[in-house]
Parts: sequence; structure tokens; C-alpha cells
Amino acid sequence: MDGTLSANDISHIVTADKRHVWHHLSQHKPWETSDPNVIIEGKGMRVWNQAGKEHIDAVSGAVWTVNVGYGRESIARAVYDQLIKMNYFAGASGSVPGAIFAEKLIEKMPGMSRVYYCNSGSEANEKAFKMVRQIAHKRYGGKKHKILFRDRDYHGTTIGALSAGGQDERNAQYGPFAPGFVRVPHCLEYRKHEQDGAPDENYGEWAANQIEEVILREGPDTVGALCLEPVTAGGGVICPPEGYWQRVQEICRKYDVLLHIDEVVCGVGRTGSEWFGYQHYGVKPDMVTMAKGVASGYAAIACCVTTEEIFDLFKSDETDPMDYFRDISTFGGCTAGPAAAIENMRIIEEEGLLENTTAMGHYMMERLSELKDKHAIIGDVRGKGLFLGAELVTDRQTKDPVEEARVKAVVGDCMKQGVIIGATNRSVPGKNNTLCFSPALIATKDDIDEIVTAVDGALGRVFG
Ligand code: PMP
Repeated sequence: MDGTLSANDISHIVTADKRHVWHHLSQHKPWETSDPNVIIEGKGMRVWNQAGKEHIDAVSGAVWTVNVGYGRESIARAVYDQLIKMNYFAGASGSVPGAIFAEKLIEKMPGMSRVYYCNSGSEANEKAFKMVRQIAHKRYGGKKHKILFRDRDYHGTTIGALSAGGQDERNAQYGPFAPGFVRVPHCLEYRKHEQDGAPDENYGEWAANQIEEVILREGPDTVGALCLEPVTAGGGVICPPEGYWQRVQEICRKYDVLLHIDEVVCGVGRTGSEWFGYQHYGVKPDMVTMAKGVASGYAAIACCVTTEEIFDLFKSDETDPMDYFRDISTFGGCTAGPAAAIENMRIIEEEGLLENTTAMGHYMMERLSELKDKHAIIGDVRGKGLFLGAELVTDRQTKDPVEEARVKAVVGDCMKQGVIIGATNRSVPGKNNTLCFSPALIATKDDIDEIVTAVDGALGRVFG
């Protein structure tokens, strides 16, 4: 750490935090007798906490966000230069970085055309849901309004987004939810034995056909859109099986169901080689939402990107005051987000981070597979690019998930060793049994070795 904060300053910060900050996703009771972690500084792959302890961050800010790593001065400078010139004006007007980033983003997304700015992944998804609802009203008398979402997918924390939430334990105690959201089955091949009728062969096509069954059951004239993560993140790092996406696309076309892809985690290089997860599968979406890696957490920015066809539906020569997309996001007019996003994208291109992600993703997969050979507790290793998971099971035959407390013990052991990993994935409702790895796209073999060695040691200590 650079030492600009004295011991007194740090003690004051921790006290203020304990007294006044309500942390995300946290049970505060233990912090009545111990201190929360306060992250003071970051550089590259590493962060330092209030005790000055160095950690390698294997989860990019805990939630797949800091794609280009910490301490990027060029992003800070781009944001500074923009802010002193023009910080904010509501998004009914344009901005210099807003226009430039939209142009650059659309270059990476053939077939897409329009960028709607907002602030968070949840909000971007809400924008897409509202577009679907308005299209239903404009074209189908309000009937084709239902939005399908998948078991185990997550689309955000607002009530609308939670209504499209496939992780029951996140939704519990927050109902009632918005009507018109309908769940479809997931596609986790490793756990297909839990799905009635899942075949040994062609599981991907079968899993996609489950979506068609729901559309037919609900009535195709009532279903407006299907919202999916390309690779499910918080639900267990679920990679689509062979043939899945192709069939999903066919089904959407057949029933005139808009395809909304949630790239909040997968977007902006996380899955390697391609800018977006869906681009690995030859899919043509109607709407794509993104947030986290768009500016790597240097500024808040999210986007709901649509085709020109969707955009055109909201244009009208008539003077109907209801006919345009009557939506605003106050801070969608902030210029810091797109200014940071332009520089973030330049870094990814100039440093070859899409290629690095593919290469390092393969390397990490190999290293985790070696761990699987060594530790029977690992039932499955899966993922794409630098977005990987290792599912822990008590028995490889029955695939019973290990107790969550022991998974937490593995995460805690790694933390003690100075390695931050995650275990937020719900492969089985209520059981966080999948270790999660998503280092920054700048990760090197040495970084990965350090992470995997720590996990190896932790598994040995926790499971013997
Ligand atoms: N979609 C997905 C796939 C996510 O993982 C998340 C957040 N983890 C969101 C949407 C919501 O994003 P935010 O927290 O920025 O609202």
C-alpha cells in the first residue's frame, strides 16, 4: 500500500463503516464482534485490505466486474478529463463519450444497432422488459406480454428483475412479484439426472425443447420474450450444452418471441475470443443487456442494446404522446460511464485481452482438471474463458452437494492464504456448492498457479 492513510485514519474508517454502512449481501451480526473487510487499494490482479494484507483477486471485485484489473490510470484520466469538461446532462440529449462508445460498441456487435444507457445490470434488464411490454401493447393489444426466464438464471435485484429470477433463495421473502414472468427449465448437463425425461444423447436440444413446451402451454400469442444468460453465472457457471442455442434461436423465431440475452457477466471479454458470450454460439439476439465489465467498475454504466428493428417499433410520425419509449434513467446521462468504457475497450483491444482470456482460460481449466483428478470432492469443472466453476459433491455417483459450511471453509482458507475466490453459485437451491473463479482478463499463468495452489491446499485441509 502507498501509506497515505495513517493507522488512525484506517481505524476511523473501519469504525465508521461498522457504525454506518449496510453492506451488500451480508449478515451483519458477526461484525458486532469482529471487523468487516475494507478494501483500501488495488493494483493489477491484487487488492490490499485495512490490515495491509495483500490478496490476489480471483473473482474480479467479487462479482465478475474488474475485467481490466485495478489501478488503471488511463481510465481514471479519461474520466477526469471528461468530468471537468462535461459531467452530466439528462439522456434526452447526447454526449460526446456516449456517442463514441455507442459507435464502438455496435462495431463489436454485428446485427445490433442502438444503445440505451443506464446504471446497473438490473436496470438494463428492466429496460428490456419494459420494451417487451410496450411492444406487446403497441402491436398485440397487450397480449404478447409474458417474459420467459430460466431456472437458475439471475437478472438482478429490483422487483421486476427478481420476478425473472430463477434462484429461489434470492427471491425468498421479497414477494409478491410482478405478474407475467414465467419460468422455463435450465440446461445444466451435469445435473440432468434431476430432470425428468432428460436423455443420454442430445441433451442440449432436449433442454431447449423444454422451453418450447412452456411456450405452447402458455400460448405463443401471450409470450413476448425469452431472457437468458449465455453462460449462467450465479446459478452455477452453467455452460450451454451442444446444440442448445441453435434450437433456442429456432424456437424464438418460430413463435415470434424476442430473444433478450443478459450479458451482464459474460459481456466484454469474460468468455474469451469474442466480446460477448452469445457470439460463441452464432445467436442473433433482439436485445442484449450488459453492465459489470463495460467499464470494469471504474464508473457505473449499463446498456440495453437493441436491433434497429426493435428501435423502429418505437418511432412514429403520428403525434401520439404515448408512442415513444417513455423511460429515463437519470444517471444514464452521466458521462463518466461511457468515458471509462471507451478506455476500457481500448485496453482490451491493445493488450490482446480477448486472446489472453482464451489462453489463460484453457490453462486454468487444465489446472482445475488436475485438481479434480486429485480431489474426489470435485465432481465437475466447467466454464468458458476466465469464467470457471468447480462443483463440490460428496459422492461422484449420487452428485450430492457438499455442505455449504464446508464450501465456505474452503473460501475462508483461501482468503487466509491471500487468495479471494467465490462460491456464490447455486447449483442446487440453497446449496452454494460451486467454487467460482473469474480473475481479471490480464491474469498470467503465475497468477493462475497461485490461485489453484491455494485451492488445492484449502481442499486438502477442509476435506482431508
Ligand atoms: N444479470 C446477471 C447475469 C448478473 O449476474 C447480475 C449481477 N450479479 C445482474 C444481472 C444484476 O446486475 P446489477 O447488480 O448491476 O444490478
